Amino acid sequence: MSECIFCKILAKEIPTEVLYEDDLVMAFPDVSPQAPEHILIIPKKHIPSLADLSPEDEGVMGRIVSVANRLAQEKGFAQEGYRLVANCGKQAGQTVFHIHFHLLGGRDFGWPPG
Ligand code: 5GP
Ligand code: ZN
Repeated sequence: MSECIFCKILAKEIPTEVLYEDDLVMAFPDVSPQAPEHILIIPKKHIPSLADLSPEDEGVMGRIVSVANRLAQEKGFAQEGYRLVANCGKQAGQTVFHIHFHLLGGRDFGWPPG
C-alpha cells in the first residue's frame, strides 16, 4: 500500500470531495485553504515533484492547466483572477511529494511571493 497521502486520496482510502476526475488527473479542496477558493489538482501518476518530470508527462501537465482554468471558470472566479502554483522541492515549500498544483482564487495575491 502506498504511503503517499495523495495516492491514498486517489485510491479513495481517504474520503475527499472530488471536484473533478478523469483518466489523468483529479481535483479536490485543500484541507487547509489559504484563500476563499483553494483547490489541489494532481496527476493520477505518482510523480514526486516537478523535478522528476519526464517528456512523457507533458500531456498530463497540460491537462492540469486546462482543468484548473475550467474549474476557475465554473466556480466563477476566473475573471477576477486566480493563481496556479506548484511548489517544487523543500526550499520552495513543498510538503507533499506527489506533484500538485494549487488553484487559488477569491482574494488579492501579492507578488513576489514570500
Ligand atoms: P505543498 O506545501 O506541498 O505545496 O502543499 C501541500 C498541500 O496539501 C497543503 O496546502 C496542505 O494543506 C494539503 N494537504 C495535506 N494533506 C492533505 C490531505 O490529507 N487532504 C487534502 N485535501 N489536502 C492536504
Ligand atoms: Zn502519490
